[in-house]
Amino acid sequence: MIKTICYLGLGVMGGGMASNLLKAGYNLTVWNRSVEKSEPFARKGARVVDTPADAVRDAELVMYSLSNDQAVEEVVFGANGILSEIKQGQIAIDMSTVLPATSLREQEAYAKRGVDFIDAPVFGSKNESANAKLWIMAAGSKAAFEKVKPVLEHLGQSIHYFGKNGNATAMKLVGNLIVALELEALAEGLVLAQKAGLDLSTVMDVVKVADFRSPLLVSNGRNILKRDFSPSFALKLMLKDADLIAKFSESLESTTPALPVVQKNLESAVALGFGEENASALIRALEKEAGIEVKARSAS
Ligand code: NAP
Repeated sequence: MIKTICYLGLGVMGGGMASNLLKAGYNLTVWNRSVEKSEPFARKGARVVDTPADAVRDAELVMYSLSNDQAVEEVVFGANGILSEIKQGQIAIDMSTVLPATSLREQEAYAKRGVDFIDAPVFGSKNESANAKLWIMAAGSKAAFEKVKPVLEHLGQSIHYFGKNGNATAMKLVGNLIVALELEALAEGLVLAQKAGLDLSTVMDVVKVADFRSPLLVSNGRNILKRDFSPSFALKLMLKDADLIAKFSESLESTTPALPVVQKNLESAVALGFGEENASALIRALEKEAGIEVKARSAS
């Protein structure tokens, strides 16, 4: 049974997961590029180290959640990276949203060192990570998956096994394609509703109950009406994912005709300076085009 874990990348998602591993009683070592994010974990009993290589040294399980493929490249393959220290018998789990090709490259590099690798990106955001309610996708050897499943059960409300490496990251991109299109649909709908002079609180009452409802539409719609764009899932990360989905789709000669529209709006919102805001700030690009600002009547 796994007892000693290291977690690398203590951002919105990694921070929540690392806290839950501490709560579950694991012996935890943490590393984050900016040291200040490690401090709260030191106070809660985690061991804080200076490099990914130091983190990996005594851990049975190495877990990480990093921004993008570039960050994985640096932390896994770079100087003082995970691969410089990881040894046969240890297991690595990448929980970042990256290209399936990156997961496969990681798997190959780990296999050369006798290390099992699981790609395990997640659905859910800041709250689900903090409250151990994530929906976790997982892929890799079944034997390795069975070993890490009890750990993942401390982080999520459901775990979905997808077979060979790369399939969990593929599922994550499929899911985020749907998320991107939902956010675009919500933004276009709210802008149109505002132009039509509808009471937006009543519009959201309908979105909450009608047969096209979804938790994502409800929570983002509610926050847009309050003009609350504090980041649970940063817009710049949604743009990163949209670009990954486009690349992945192209590599498979699949078709995602609505995606370029969302990419363009995400790019416009980033260009307007809203990249650090929540992904729902995508609506700001449409508001600019339409010459309005969407908000509930009571908030005006
Ligand atoms: P975040 O809050 O921005 O955290 C990103 C983490 O990556 C930070 O620890 C950051 O370190 C680290 N990092 C970035 N570039 C690095 C580099 N070059 N070298 C070393 N460390 C680096 O992002 P997040 O929201 O936690 O997202 C993490 C991953 O989960 C992403 O792949 C994202 O797409 C995915 N995801 C996010 C959500 C969500 O709702 N937020 C949901 C599902 C999946 P610093 O602190 O030093 O910047």
